[in-house]
Amino acid sequence: MMKKLTTSLVCCLLSGSLFAQQAPTDSTIIKQFFDMSLDKGQSYQWLRELTKNVGGRLAGSANAAKAVQWGKALLEQQGADKVFLQDVMVPHWERGAKEQAYILNGKQKIVVPLLALGGSIATPKKGIQAEVIEVKNFQELRALGKEKCEGKIIFFNRPMDATKINTFEAYGGAGDQRRSGANEASKLGAIGCIIRSLSSTLNDYPHTGSMVYATGVPLIPAGAISTNAAELLSKTLKENPKTQFFFKQNCQTFDDAPSHNVVAELKGSEKPEEIIVVGGHLDSWDVAEGAHDDGTGIVQSIEVLRLFKTLGIKPKRTIRVVLFMNEENGNRGGIKYAELAKQNGEKHVFALESDNGGFTPRGFGLQGASAETLAKVQGFKPLLSPYGLHEIEKGGGGVDIGPLAPQGTVLVGFKPDSQRYFEYHHAANDVFENVNQRELEMGAASMASLIYLLDKYL
Ligand SMILES: [Zn+2]
Repeated sequence: MMKKLTTSLVCCLLSGSLFAQQAPTDSTIIKQFFDMSLDKGQSYQWLRELTKNVGGRLAGSANAAKAVQWGKALLEQQGADKVFLQDVMVPHWERGAKEQAYILNGKQKIVVPLLALGGSIATPKKGIQAEVIEVKNFQELRALGKEKCEGKIIFFNRPMDATKINTFEAYGGAGDQRRSGANEASKLGAIGCIIRSLSSTLNDYPHTGSMVYATGVPLIPAGAISTNAAELLSKTLKENPKTQFFFKQNCQTFDDAPSHNVVAELKGSEKPEEIIVVGGHLDSWDVAEGAHDDGTGIVQSIEVLRLFKTLGIKPKRTIRVVLFMNEENGNRGGIKYAELAKQNGEKHVFALESDNGGFTPRGFGLQGASAETLAKVQGFKPLLSPYGLHEIEKGGGGVDIGPLAPQGTVLVGFKPDSQRYFEYHHAANDVFENVNQRELEMGAASMASLIYLLDKYL
């Protein structure tokens, strides 16, 4: 008993002395990140500037160009060692005049909110009016065959699965309707495609998002109606299967346009050739201010740089803040960034992306990490959990940083709480007012803390 006690006492003293050498320093620095971000943070005010002064900023638009200049100037003000632009050609699609849509039940006409999907063609000038075939998935559609679908509007009405705790899983499970619903409908002779918005609640906002036409299939226009409108259309169709739908879209695709990624560097003191990226995407859909998607990721990434500079923390490796262009409808910025990294022989060890909204931080997801690296990062939990960062798991990453994966870069996705994201995602209510200041600032400090630990211990 005595012996045992002595051993545990020695262990205790030993680990206690280790603790005295390392942990307080790290925990003090992490506390400073949070104190500074919450008490004297800049991210909220920057988000106001980006959302209110620039606004919606689809790649290829004048607003996207304005956002590039805003980001570059702001990063220069933070005292980065180097700020530069990377040229990238991006798709250029414009919505044009506001869409019109209504349900026609006999003589009754019910106007509903609709948004063209990004990349869709316009309807003919007079719009499209036809009977509606409602389906839940492609299998159900194919079973109907050409005879039932020819000349009709196909209505994809499969909701996001409400039972998924992580709403991104539910989003993933419903996404095929938006991405390729028009192609599947067109193969069976349909003349138009409408989808139930990919939103987790019943609301009146149509949620746009990108779709891509398949080659060799006639192009038909595709739009999204709000979840409430989808419920109403479904109910009306049950009462009257001859119900018709009308919609008119005025969108157009132009030639690719020149644009930029914005990059800022904090040069490493010991291993400057090893790079850690932190970023988000600067573009957003045209119909909203792009606050949660992804203004929050942009200002949090810039705040990481400011926190390091303000607290005088000199990283061993080079930290790069990257404001990627064109995540929403092409990912050309992410692809170009990885292409240039390879061309220039750069070594990217980690890339952290914030593109899941500016909500309460929960943790991080790692992709491409060895078991050893994952275990090391999970070893940071005692330092991070006082701030609510409990989830450090496999999986995650981000669209913009994805193309770095083949270069052996470990991809890290910042994981905030996901319950409210799909109320705002790609819709007109994704505005500054729907971002909570403290939640946003907690996210910036969380990201700074992880980068600090990754740089120091890996
Ligand atoms: Zn996004």
